[in-house]
Amino acid sequence: MILDLKSIFAAEGSAKQIDYEFDMSDTEFSGVFPLKTPVSVSGRVSNSAGVVSLLLDIRYVYSAPCDRCGEFAERGHNVILDKMLAVSIEGEDSDTIITVPNMKLDVDELVYSEVVLDIPYKHLCNEECKGICSVCGKNLNREKCTCEKKEIDPRLAKLAELLDN
Ligand SMILES: [Zn+2]
Ligand SMILES: [Zn+2]
Repeated sequence: MILDLKSIFAAEGSAKQIDYEFDMSDTEFSGVFPLKTPVSVSGRVSNSAGVVSLLLDIRYVYSAPCDRCGEFAERGHNVILDKMLAVSIEGEDSDTIITVPNMKLDVDELVYSEVVLDIPYKHLCNEECKGICSVCGKNLNREKCTCEKKEIDPRLAKLAELLDN
């Protein structure tokens, strides 16, 4: 979506609502296409006393196998974007200002890069996910196994022996 901001820049007190969905289902991350449902974008662009600002709430659902147990998991995330828009800026580039030289903002491009930056480094079905036993391969969220003790660091095993006695 390209947002034409001419009327916003021209009139103090003016505002425009933004409410749309952006399809990122063809975006690949580490071999999967995790953004199966469209990214929802809502917010507004407004001119307050000559300062044009953009406030966006970007929500997306990340669907992929859990990094620990491999079970398919969906988790919702959201990014709040709060920026100022300017036709040009003097001096250095700023993180808080987006320049829109022709008063047009490519919202898709902005949303795309924000989502890509926000994709969690770790994707877990649950923060408490116990993962898979490296010895027997059981999903420890569903069943217990008896080989856990074998994974203990040998130095800690000695301590566990002492505590057992
Ligand atoms: Zn998991
Ligand atoms: Zn096991």
